[in-house]
Amino acid sequence: MTAGCGGARFAAAPSTTVLLGARAGRVRITRGADQGRRHAAAEPRTAWLRGSIEQDEQGFIRTGRDLYRAGRLPAGWPLERPPLLLETSIPGVFAAGDVRHRSIKRVAAAVGEGATAIQLVHEYLQAGPD
Ligand SMILES: Cc1cc2nc3c(=O)[nH]c(=O)nc-3n(C[C@H](O)[C@H](O)[C@H](O)COP(=O)(O)OP(=O)(O)OC[C@H]3O[C@@H](n4cnc5c(N)ncnc54)[C@H](O)[C@@H]3O)c2cc1C
Repeated sequence: MTAGCGGARFAAAPSTTVLLGARAGRVRITRGADQGRRHAAAEPRTAWLRGSIEQDEQGFIRTGRDLYRAGRLPAGWPLERPPLLLETSIPGVFAAGDVRHRSIKRVAAAVGEGATAIQLVHEYLQAGPD
């Protein structure tokens, strides 16, 4: 079979996990509920952050407004101010690109988020200790 992801096509057997060594995550090919079709889904390698930074059910890192659950910030959020756009549940730690919850999963988006994160780091440092 062949499967597609982000415009690329590659061959894989059903239910094969295709490991892409140079990526932040891996791509898993699975047979969908609609039978004949297979689906490619990214899996972030963020297990080592579990318990220290808020993630979604798939392991993507929550940032900014996505840190709110039922209108509340995580219990461990220590500041009066809300998290900045790409700020994680640890103040001053930012996430950008594919590893981020609800990111676009495209090169241009990752580059833009990276540039934005740098700007936010500057803002964070200029503001001084919270
Ligand atoms: C098969 C495939 C085809 C795609 N085709 C397209 C396309 O045609 N057009 C498009 O726009 N996008 C495409 N994409 C998506 C695009 O590749 C990603 O959106 C983009 O690469 C995300 O960039 P990133 O920097 O967030 O993550 P990555 O490019 O995955 O870079 C993350 C880097 O972090 C490193 N890393 C991971 N864990 C650690 C760690 N613990 N310590 C240190 N370093 C670490 C990784 O080795 C990697 O170098 C495709 C993706 C796949 C999988």
